[in-house]
Amino acid sequence: MEKNQIILKGIAAAPGISIAPAYLFSKESESVSAEKIEDIEEALGNIDTALELSKKEMRKIFNLAVDKIGEKRAAIFEAQMMVLDDPILIASIKERIRNERMAPEYIVEDEISKYIKIMKASNEPYMKERSHDIEDIKNRIIRNLKKKKWKSKISNDVIVVTTNLSPSDTVLLSRSNVKGYVTDFGGLTSHAAIVARSLNIPAVVGIHEATNLIHDDDLLIIDGFHGEVIVNPSDELVNEYKEKIDKLSQYDEELLKIKSLPAVTLDGKEIKLMANLDISEEMSFIVHNCADGIGLVRTEQLFEEYEVFPDENQQSEVYNKISESIYPKPVIIRAFDIGGDKVLPVDLHEPNPMLGWRGIRLLLDNPNLFKTQIRAVLKASKHRNVWFMLPMINSLSEVIAAKKIIEECKKELLEEHIPFDSDIMVGIMIEVPSAAVLTSDFADIVDFISIGTNDLIQYLLAVDRGNEIVSTQYQEFHPAVIRTIRHIINEAGKKSLPVSMCGEMAADPFALPLLVGLGLESLSISAAGIPLHKKILRSLNYSELKQLAAECLNLKNEDEINNKLHKFFNEKISDQIKNLY
Ligand code: PEP
Ligand code: MG
Repeated sequence: MEKNQIILKGIAAAPGISIAPAYLFSKESESVSAEKIEDIEEALGNIDTALELSKKEMRKIFNLAVDKIGEKRAAIFEAQMMVLDDPILIASIKERIRNERMAPEYIVEDEISKYIKIMKASNEPYMKERSHDIEDIKNRIIRNLKKKKWKSKISNDVIVVTTNLSPSDTVLLSRSNVKGYVTDFGGLTSHAAIVARSLNIPAVVGIHEATNLIHDDDLLIIDGFHGEVIVNPSDELVNEYKEKIDKLSQYDEELLKIKSLPAVTLDGKEIKLMANLDISEEMSFIVHNCADGIGLVRTEQLFEEYEVFPDENQQSEVYNKISESIYPKPVIIRAFDIGGDKVLPVDLHEPNPMLGWRGIRLLLDNPNLFKTQIRAVLKASKHRNVWFMLPMINSLSEVIAAKKIIEECKKELLEEHIPFDSDIMVGIMIEVPSAAVLTSDFADIVDFISIGTNDLIQYLLAVDRGNEIVSTQYQEFHPAVIRTIRHIINEAGKKSLPVSMCGEMAADPFALPLLVGLGLESLSISAAGIPLHKKILRSLNYSELKQLAAECLNLKNEDEINNKLHKFFNEKISDQIKNLY
């Protein structure tokens, strides 16, 4: 029977078009079924891997928790770690797998639940409470067993459909040659969307009903330019989209022809186009697309890759590789921006994580973690092309405190006769409104700034960047946003402080003429977008862009600004580019 074609609308989160079967990915529910298994040795191996992975995760959690919530409360995690090492428990799980030939997650569920039942029945309130911790650890092991399962299951080219996606899932799944991401929830600047763009994989987020309406193996067309997903498309539509895919690849080839030319306007204004680096796989792509440097390394992604806090040597090796690959162009390494919606391996149940313990706040509270990273960055700076950037700054005192720690690290390395750049550039992200207001004061104590519009818009407009319910209120062209950007650029300009922008607004082709018109001379975007930005800039006049920006600054609401920018784009940019959007 022919299936019904449905067209679903969402937020266009990462450009591109693919046609592939759906794979429904779920990790929320830890329900397990009593499945029989064939390969006992494989199941036993999976148990060992899941225990090892769970231990690594718990170690991460414990390390972070200890500094912040104190030894005593962090001991909860220690108790959970002990469960993972309990030889009697492990032996009985393995024995049951051998004897009963049942799926390991089923045995884990059954075996650990026995303990939980006994604890819950206890008269001791302490024991009762601890039962939740054991429940947690049980779910963690099962989750890790399942991860192993889905990782091997999605070996072919599929479009992943899921309720929500974390950045780490996005990366993990991409290693299975995923052709697209479709989610029920999430916004344009959620980190999963950013990672999808970095990976050059189309994504449509915030569809709400995607996981209800799409079934495993349904054929999907994902259009990441227009935020559309077509479920069970007609043959006619499939052919139409196949043609579009062909045109796109021809167009990509066209764009790559200009990749080594400078990003310069018709009247000679040169703009630096740098690349954001989210995962190490992107490095060769960045070099290939001729980025003018790396404007943002999101080092927190290292947690995803290493599963634990990488030590100083591991980190310096990674930073060194990056700095050498891009040399002599600069690389801006950002200190771990952990917390918020990013990887925070401690579930502290903060009521408002976006307003909570993230970025510089967490780093200054964890000086050992911070110092390890600073030393690693300094060690990688010996070729003098490494800059160091602090995230989530909102006051001068945070910068002063961080610089004090940087100085301590320099002193140590000097005493240890380890070479480093003693004049390393230290800068900050401007992503909190207070920092934007204080730009001129920051200019006296830092060497550069980079505007992080993803957070700046979120905090300026009080709109959660990852929440699709309020996504129409998340307005990059809100007059307050563009006037704030103008303020930052002007204030920095007065003190000759280098300014760049590494938020997603910089990657938006419609925003590009406005940003350059506002005086921005450097942008950092995902490497995939660099050739198109170059093509756009090379077809425009800087004088017109200044005029455009001046007109936008006089407008009173986002619709007017949005319309003006779209009109400009349609009039000035070649038809070939327009057709993509
Ligand atoms: C930003 O906030 O704009 C930014 C670049 O940082 P992140 O997206 O990593 O929070
Ligand atoms: Mg940010």
